[in-house]
Amino acid sequence: MKKAVKDYIVSNRDETIALGKKLFNCPELGFKEFKTKEIIIDYLNRHQLKVEKEFFETGFSVSVGHGKPHIGLIAELDAIPTVGHPNASKVDNAAHSCGHSTQIAIMLAALDALNQKIDQLSGRVTLFFTPAEEFTDVEYRKQLIKEGKIKYLSGKQNMLAASLFDDCDLFIHLHSSGGSDYRFSVNSSLAGFIYKKLTFNGKGAHAAVCPDEGVNALNMCSLFLNAMNMLRETYKEEDMVRVHGIIAKGGDTVNSIPEEVIYECYIRSINPDFLLKLNEKISNAAKFCSQALGGSCTIEDIPGYLPFIPCTALSEVIYQNMLDYTDSSRIRWNEKSVAAGDVGDISVFKPVTQYGYTGFKGRMHGNNLQIADPYEVYIVQAEIVAGSVLDLLTDSSLVDNIVNSFQPKMTCQQYLDYLNK
Ligand SMILES: [Zn+2]
Repeated sequence: MKKAVKDYIVSNRDETIALGKKLFNCPELGFKEFKTKEIIIDYLNRHQLKVEKEFFETGFSVSVGHGKPHIGLIAELDAIPTVGHPNASKVDNAAHSCGHSTQIAIMLAALDALNQKIDQLSGRVTLFFTPAEEFTDVEYRKQLIKEGKIKYLSGKQNMLAASLFDDCDLFIHLHSSGGSDYRFSVNSSLAGFIYKKLTFNGKGAHAAVCPDEGVNALNMCSLFLNAMNMLRETYKEEDMVRVHGIIAKGGDTVNSIPEEVIYECYIRSINPDFLLKLNEKISNAAKFCSQALGGSCTIEDIPGYLPFIPCTALSEVIYQNMLDYTDSSRIRWNEKSVAAGDVGDISVFKPVTQYGYTGFKGRMHGNNLQIADPYEVYIVQAEIVAGSVLDLLTDSSLVDNIVNSFQPKMTCQQYLDYLNK
């Protein structure tokens, strides 16, 4: 059966690659993926597939088959602001420099192929189109929260809180990879992060006539950045820490002492305990550096994504399917990445694997990211996903083993408390 499903994917290769190209040229930011959704629905209509549920502005799901096991597939819809990308939106610089558009075409090709044989299989497959993975465009999302359209900043956080993933037994996800010394990566982990916004509050005054009457918020920020950088020597290699930010507002006008300065940053680590400890140290540095110069600092922390912990037994199923295309020397097992994704939050509750695929050129999130090898990106990956799902639907012991060996790391209530903090 696997051969027939793969032959079907290959026979539709031109349509799949054209779909991928169309999506790559339609980049939209999170919760704004309306045109992307239209393109997908047009494809579904042509392939006898139907939208089952719609949620959170642009999210939706499509199912084939019935009963159990229930396999979840995930395709992310959104793009990321990338100044200077040739395929970027003229409106907001959104570009598919993270390659999410390719996930959509791959998963659709895989689902369509599986649907051809679904009557001969027992079980169900649901493809979730998830909005807003990239943690960006925060003010727009805060507005959506005010309007009651979403509750949290990322797509999968909202979907988890609304119990949309509950019925699935396990999830397969895949993500573009910039790796050059391997073809696939599997059983990879991702870091978690906290988004932090620091508003340094000083007192404005004429910068030449009476600087003594002011309190310089830029100086506070500058002192804080020094303190924060001094903490870097305390990071341990194994915790894979990254702290990076931007001065979003440096003052109002050059001839006044800056009254308000805003610094935004991400604190990332693969170690959740260290992440929390470091976050506290950085808050203290901001608070006391401000006080030292006579001002204050308002601290806003927003929980980003939880570290992604892969399900090894599920990764093994994907790995076996990869071996049809290459040998083990070209597959990286257990890669630890400092990148983060909201798929990490699902991995707390359900067995999930995310695998990395190559075939791109340029830098991830860079303005030169392009698809170098469309057959590798779209067709080979659709075959691997469909092949892995077929294995899971034809050998019930595989799913039993994955589900029985999985331990959730949080209760739903603990998760909601964490999000609502
Ligand atoms: Zn991404």
